[in-house]
Amino acid sequence: MAQIIDGKAVAQKVRDEVKAGVTAFRAAHGRAPGLHVVLVGDDQASAVYVRSKEKAAEEIGMAGKVYRLPATTTEAELLGLVEQLNADDTVDGILVQFPVPAQISQTRVIETISAAKDVDGLHPLSVGALWAGADGLVSCTPAGCMRLLREAGVKLSGANAVVVGRSNLVGKPVAALLLAENATVTLAHSKTRDLGAVCRQADVLVAAVGREAIIKGDYIKPGAAVIDVGMNRNAAGKLCGDVDFEAAEKIAGFITKVPGGVGPMTIACLLENTLKAAKMRKSRA
Ligand code: NAP
Repeated sequence: MAQIIDGKAVAQKVRDEVKAGVTAFRAAHGRAPGLHVVLVGDDQASAVYVRSKEKAAEEIGMAGKVYRLPATTTEAELLGLVEQLNADDTVDGILVQFPVPAQISQTRVIETISAAKDVDGLHPLSVGALWAGADGLVSCTPAGCMRLLREAGVKLSGANAVVVGRSNLVGKPVAALLLAENATVTLAHSKTRDLGAVCRQADVLVAAVGREAIIKGDYIKPGAAVIDVGMNRNAAGKLCGDVDFEAAEKIAGFITKVPGGVGPMTIACLLENTLKAAKMRKSRA
């Protein structure tokens, strides 16, 4: 049976580390790092995510604010607020919760956020720094996946890693991070031929598709480390991942659960990024 990688426990460890970092930052600079989150519209899931981020930041003594804007907000109004936050020295991290309403270009929002405050790691400069191996802000869920692998002691150098899913948010940055750790990386997607055969090569398998049980038990190489990023609802309305967990845990060496795996890491890594952004700006000032 696979060893379960406990995302809740690792996320708590990260939060404790960031809390200590926030205290030290406040002592050194007379203010706490500030995370500013913008929510546009009435999407229920987004509202829940934003509330969780707000609560998590408060709990560790981070400063910041949530801006709740109506669904009718124009692109110019949102970009105006982002510019205002870019110019405010007490703002260290800016996160615009996606999706935004259709009248607003997500790309333009991403490109307007100052790269130095881009705690979501989606700005082209952040993405470029990641692939170039330069220091920068890395998107939160991929950073969380890497931390889980590190905490479990999974050997990455020389390992065959397969990432299923190639989104800018998850799949591509995970692939870049695994490559930076000297894994041999394959990025699979919807046009990949014989996904099972590709996955069976993986010493490290990261599933980021968004389809219940797309990764079957017989896709898993015995002893592999399996990180399940997927968040889906099954027929009974229960939260589940992309991996057929019951089958996979009998074959894998390490595995994450959904819920309780990657999910808790995302917010913890957002807090970590905000502290990092605050320190980076101070060191460059
Ligand atoms: P996305 O943008 O929809 O990307 C999905 C990827 O899966 C695409 O690259 C797509 O390939 C690929 N795909 C679709 N069908 C496939 C198939 N049959 N075989 C192989 N690949 C296939 O999704 P995302 O934003 O990356 O999110 C992926 C999942 O992670 C979702 O369930 C999401 O809810 C979850 N998620 C969780 C967290 C967390 O905090 N735990 C954070 C973010 C996302 P193409 O590129 O060819 O279309």
